[in-house]
Amino acid sequence: MTEDVKKKEKIARQKMPEQEPQVRARNFEEVPLGYSPETAELEAGRCLQCKKPSCVEGCPVQIDIPAFIKEIKEKNFSGAIMKLWEKTSLPAVCGRVCPQEAQCEQLCILGKKEEPVAVGRLERFAADWQRTKGEFKLPPKADPTGKKVAVIGSGPSGLTVAGDLLLKGHEVTIYEAFHKAGGVLVYGIPEFRLPKAIVESEVNILEKLGAKIVCNAVIGRTRTIEELMTEEGFDAVYIGVGAGLPIFMNLQGENLIGI
Ligand SMILES: Cc1cc2nc3c(=O)[nH]c(=O)nc-3n(C[C@H](O)[C@H](O)[C@H](O)COP(=O)(O)OP(=O)(O)OC[C@H]3O[C@@H](n4cnc5c(N)ncnc54)[C@H](O)[C@@H]3O)c2cc1C
Ligand code: SF4
Repeated sequence: MTEDVKKKEKIARQKMPEQEPQVRARNFEEVPLGYSPETAELEAGRCLQCKKPSCVEGCPVQIDIPAFIKEIKEKNFSGAIMKLWEKTSLPAVCGRVCPQEAQCEQLCILGKKEEPVAVGRLERFAADWQRTKGEFKLPPKADPTGKKVAVIGSGPSGLTVAGDLLLKGHEVTIYEAFHKAGGVLVYGIPEFRLPKAIVESEVNILEKLGAKIVCNAVIGRTRTIEELMTEEGFDAVYIGVGAGLPIFMNLQGENLIGI
């Protein structure tokens, strides 16, 4: 084991400050408060910059985790968000609600002996820094392809697809049945875990990238997929409508408490 690895193992995983219990008991605001730049740099300094980063294997969208962490360590916070945007359109959301302990952080090599690198907290830091302090820069887009895609549903699935397609140079229109974009991120996950303003700001970035968002549009009722493909001239439709309704098995006793 090199001296550098031993030194990094000695740095403790950085805690994220939180609202005190007596304060948070009286409000519905977000409980964790996020890293400061100094704490983020310290935590980023724990990453071993593995040649074969196992953390990336645990990430559903394969973010180049060591690369964005390296940018934070070098105080290039804009560079960190650009790296994140290569693979995710929702870094401020994912940094908060992804189950990192069962994904990237579970596979972090440092976690074999010590606590894993706090990948999620660092992702959240980079996204929050960009939103609140950074110079606002959009991720680079490919040249326009002339293709139009309709995305049905504005939950994380639809927003992610929209972000990927926009960066590839396609035109994107998102149709949402409700009056607000975000899906379960806005009407399911509570404010103290994921503030609505965070979801709104991620959606705004997609709009700045060129996404058109049409709310109060129930596809299948107000317009059909066939109409989108023929009358509206879309080349493709992505259906990301979530799992809004349960399917019951009609078994005796299935409505009993505890079943
Ligand atoms: C209370 C709660 C807490 C959760 N907490 C977490 C968490 O902490 N971490 C985590 O990773 N996951 C969490 N989840 C799960 C996560 O929210 C879902 O996995 C995720 O939202 C699914 O994304 P989706 O885009 O597939 O669907 P949804 O978020 O359901 O979005 C689908 C969208 O499609 C729209 N739609 C449906 N039909 C139509 C139509 N015909 N036309 C137009 N629009 C339509 C809906 O209105 C909705 O906005 C939580 C879920 C709940 C309910
Ligand atoms: S596995 Fe852990 S230490 Fe290695 S690159 Fe990923 S986050 Fe850094």
